[in-house]
Amino acid sequence: MTKAWVAALAAAFLFACATSPLGRRQLNLFPESEMTAMGVAAFRQVKEKVPLSNDRVANNYVRCVADAVTRDIRAGETANQWEVAVFENKSANAFALPGGKIGVYTGMLKVAQTQHQLAAVVAHEVAHVLARHANERASTQFATQTGFDLLGVLSGTPSASKNALLAVLGVGAQVGVILPFDRAQESEADLLGLDIMAGAGFDPRESIQLWRNMAAQGKAAPPEFISTHPSHQTRMADLNARMAHAMQLYERARLQGRRPACSPN
Ligand SMILES: [Zn+2]
Repeated sequence: MTKAWVAALAAAFLFACATSPLGRRQLNLFPESEMTAMGVAAFRQVKEKVPLSNDRVANNYVRCVADAVTRDIRAGETANQWEVAVFENKSANAFALPGGKIGVYTGMLKVAQTQHQLAAVVAHEVAHVLARHANERASTQFATQTGFDLLGVLSGTPSASKNALLAVLGVGAQVGVILPFDRAQESEADLLGLDIMAGAGFDPRESIQLWRNMAAQGKAAPPEFISTHPSHQTRMADLNARMAHAMQLYERARLQGRRPACSPN
């Protein structure tokens, strides 16, 4: 390897090294525009595979919570507004994608039993996007494959690469490939999500009950929420350690008139 090449490689990694909103160092090799395009393409594919719910009340409810949660959060490079879809499916699943896409399965509405708990779910997913976790995951998965055309793979015919890429984005369950976010990313999404929901005027204390409900699901719960997540004890301790800060955000939001009133029926 020549010296120049080593220097070029070092420079590339230097530029690719970013810091997450909570200060964790991360490797982000792909431009945000590419992640946005991938998110949009992946969302279209989930819509082809999973039927949309035509329950008007459920759609309005999820939209109401998601709108309140994302009010101050930029959807992406091209989108001004987050697109929200409710999918008709029993599993307690939810996801958010770069490019401003949010998906909630109807099964989630049984686990997240109040607007505050649903806000905790949506905020957790949006936090994964804000903290560029998909970019980080794609970077570590595909860093070794030079010239790997992410979007090309995603728009092509079904293939193992395509399924792997959907898994990287967090929607692999639809194609049978499960790739949960790692533990550091999950903890970060929990804490950042707590701030986001509180800042939107949802009661952050209810996140504790949500994760209790989720844990009670046991094996029935989707991997995004259980498998690599910090242990139940660790998660509760971490959330409680940040609760005083979240309560300040919550109280300030309420003083500013942010009092979401989304009704599930
Ligand atoms: Zn997560």
